[in-house]
Amino acid sequence: MTSSPDPSSSSPDERTGDLRARLAAVDARIDRATADAGRADRPHLIVVTKFFPVEDVLRLAGLGVRDVGENRDQEAAAKAAAATAASNGAAANSAASSDAGDLRWHFIGQLQSNKAKSVVHYARSVHSVDRSSLVRALGRAVADHRPAELGPLACWVQVDLDDAAGGDPDSGATGGRGGAAPADVVSLADAIAATDGLTVAGVMAVAPRGADPDAAFARLARIAADLRAAHPSADGISAGMSADLESAIAHGATHLRVGSDVLGPRPAVG
Ligand SMILES: *Cc1c(COP(=O)(O)O)cnc(C)c1O
Repeated sequence: MTSSPDPSSSSPDERTGDLRARLAAVDARIDRATADAGRADRPHLIVVTKFFPVEDVLRLAGLGVRDVGENRDQEAAAKAAAATAASNGAAANSAASSDAGDLRWHFIGQLQSNKAKSVVHYARSVHSVDRSSLVRALGRAVADHRPAELGPLACWVQVDLDDAAGGDPDSGATGGRGGAAPADVVSLADAIAATDGLTVAGVMAVAPRGADPDAAFARLARIAADLRAAHPSADGISAGMSADLESAIAHGATHLRVGSDVLGPRPAVG
């Protein structure tokens, strides 16, 4: 049986069972890698739901998932609103999806400054803060548009571990996946920490395509240590996806961002 992002291709119960099995397999991998690393602290799992419908988010909420990640504002804003509406409806009707009201939304994609206003409406955190102009935009957006109940916006400094990429995230035509140069991480964290309504959560990175994830995540761990020396509470490391979560856990990841191994293959768009 193959899963599909189209919920109409399988009954809701079948899809829920599919998600339950995939989630259990990923949880088992996390347990094993955490034990193998000799760690007492189990990393947090953020399930990346990009390209999948809000119905899948609601199914995941019913299975106990609390943290979901999205990489496009338009899609994330619509899904966050739909999940809230579903949980409000469910509260009246008593359905499993009332859990959707407890979801925390994490923005993990490259973010244009003009989307900051929208993102601060629903996101607990932004994992892709990689330039000072975006810090300023997020600071202004939080001051003007943040719902009080969401609290401060947790900002992760995204690091570019791919020295060959050299793209500008605002150009929309990068060879890499975004991120600040390692040498700029502490100064960006300084800017975040100096902005009302923003907190520094830690560092985030994506392992460069085709490179050894162990080398990349070992480097990220050193960058994270430098950040902690300057900002002791910024002790998070957001790293590890479906293909490399074991390596990320071995190198101290505190937050994993896993999509396809929970939801199934994404449609080949974007
Ligand atoms: C899509 C995405 C993920 C999840 O990737 P999978 O390989 O599907 O687990 C994690 N991080 C970022 C930044 C992404 O864009």
